[in-house]
Amino acid sequence: MKGTGAQLGQYPAAWHSASLRSDHLRGLLSSVGEDEFFDALEAEVARLNGQFQTCAKSIISAHHSLKHVFKLWSPFNKKKVEISVCSGAEHTKVEVKTNTIAFYAGAYIKFAKDNAVAIRSMIDEHHKRYSGERGQDYLKELWQDQSGRASFLHSPLLAELAAVELAWTVSNSCASDSEDCSNESKDGEADDSDLQCPICLDTLFKPIALACGHVFCQSCLFEACGHGSQLGTAQAILSCIPSATRCPECRSDNVVAGARQLKVLSTTLQQRFPEYWFMKEQEEKDNKTALQAQSFQLKVQKMRQVLTTRARFHPSMLILD
Ligand SMILES: [Zn+2]
Ligand SMILES: [Zn+2]
Repeated sequence: MKGTGAQLGQYPAAWHSASLRSDHLRGLLSSVGEDEFFDALEAEVARLNGQFQTCAKSIISAHHSLKHVFKLWSPFNKKKVEISVCSGAEHTKVEVKTNTIAFYAGAYIKFAKDNAVAIRSMIDEHHKRYSGERGQDYLKELWQDQSGRASFLHSPLLAELAAVELAWTVSNSCASDSEDCSNESKDGEADDSDLQCPICLDTLFKPIALACGHVFCQSCLFEACGHGSQLGTAQAILSCIPSATRCPECRSDNVVAGARQLKVLSTTLQQRFPEYWFMKEQEEKDNKTALQAQSFQLKVQKMRQVLTTRARFHPSMLILD
């Protein structure tokens, strides 16, 4: 990551203190029974989840408030700004450079990954002691859970954090290069394969992440769920999709209720690929107009049917075809 600054070389203290307490769990493995171990592990998962959610939401809202500041000042300036960054149980106001936000987003993505690895290795240690399938079953159940119980393993929040990191990496490389950031990426820092929709295989347009963490273009997802021709806001259309609908990528069910529009990623992609975005917006507008015309035609047809039926009962009303 470019320009995180020497003072940012260490991860936030909260990142270390909040990580999985492996020693504590290891101690339990040798001193108490399996049930107590799994109870303690589950309590740790809940604690990690709470920490991750609080920090991820805090970083995302800090990103939005900084964007607001950017609207007032010139873009990509390097003035110091004040943002609220989560630090342990309390929120502390700290003075940071704008590029710090990328650092924190990256740190909490790493927090999520490291703790996922720590949970797996704890289950390995459990297996060495007890063998059996219980550990693997626990892992499978945890990884497949879509209720947000372990959102640091896979979730829209994780996808949005990655977008925050990308947004600031792009901003900083633009600021340091003093060039138009709409160029194709030349720094190679952002992996473009992450920006591809697995359905249309094109760059994501108005991305939505499902509870399983898979990301699609809004229109591709609605089309795949059989709601491609529905008019309305994304939230309204999402609310019409049955909860049993499976993710087009991993086939998990119950993933729609926890879906989230990735607004940070949308803005970043729009800034990075303005021509592509404009083209897709035009396409979307044309589709919407066609759908509205279709729906108007249907309404007219229906009205004609009603009036024709009425005319049969009221011969004084004449309907001309
Ligand atoms: Zn797509
Ligand atoms: Zn999925």
